[in-house]
Amino acid sequence: MSYQQIVKWEIIPLTLPMVKKNCCKCGNNSLFINSNKFRVNANKNKLDIWLIYQCEKCKSTWNMSIYERINYKDIDPTIYKLFLNNDIELAKQYGFDIAIHNKNKVNIDYENIEYEIIGEKIDILEENFNKKIILDITCKYPFGLRVDKVLSKKLGVSREKIKKLHKNSLIYGDCKKDLLREKINNNIKIYIG
Ligand SMILES: [Zn+2]
Repeated sequence: MSYQQIVKWEIIPLTLPMVKKNCCKCGNNSLFINSNKFRVNANKNKLDIWLIYQCEKCKSTWNMSIYERINYKDIDPTIYKLFLNNDIELAKQYGFDIAIHNKNKVNIDYENIEYEIIGEKIDILEENFNKKIILDITCKYPFGLRVDKVLSKKLGVSREKIKKLHKNSLIYGDCKKDLLREKINNNIKIYIG
């Protein structure tokens, strides 16, 4: 007898993405580290807000523009306070925000992000595995992780094995796209068994 079971996994980044751009001081492509600090400039009733980055080599700073010349009244006072207090969650939110990076014409570097996957373990290698599992993966701050990498890491089996299971329709997704190469977004469902 098989039965259906919902298993939830959550992917949590433990480090923040860096920014890849030219450093005026080093003179070449450098990686800039998110300092978790904001700079807020108030001029009459206009505000400029930046997230401060620092070159990993020479420590020069680069400010990523978040708001430019916005009216003081147009910003939620609660959020404004978070900027002033260098709120870590807010720095994380902007650190993962692709639209803001695009607007600043810089690239996000996801290469060195460390992360953990929280959730129940599934023993896919157990003998006579006959469960039907709906795997519900959430990732509040997506960073281009591939499905096969996540499955391999959390299930504790090789990517080759994952590929084989996918080929045999024991691992599949909602649509016909190549599931294993898909990037984990905020929410993805994978079916096992
Ligand atoms: Zn530098």
